[in-house]
Amino acid sequence: MPCYRCGARQTDPVRGASPWQRGVRHETQVLICPDCQRLHDLDLDSCAACGSVALICRLGEVECRSCGDVRLARSDALAGSPVSPPPSPPGLSAEVEAALNRVLGRT
Ligand SMILES: [Zn+2]
Ligand SMILES: [Zn+2]
Repeated sequence: MPCYRCGARQTDPVRGASPWQRGVRHETQVLICPDCQRLHDLDLDSCAACGSVALICRLGEVECRSCGDVRLARSDALAGSPVSPPPSPPGLSAEVEAALNRVLGRT
């Protein structure tokens, strides 16, 4: 999974723990690369109980790794990325009607 912010790819650490930070943003599990961790506008979800951003999102729940608080993710997050049908362009039916009228000689 690349860094959610800059898209950098995670490289395997030579040894020890990965410097990449896990977090939850808009109730989606994300990874933050070491560079982006220095920024202060990461816009991560934070724990409602203790304010920590060390959260884990799993199976419709968001768990705080600092205090253990667990809350349910919003239902719209459970469904994954929202899938909405593309809006039909306005005026299409009128254009089709006009084209039909031209073909039929009814202008
Ligand atoms: Zn990054
Ligand atoms: Zn907490």
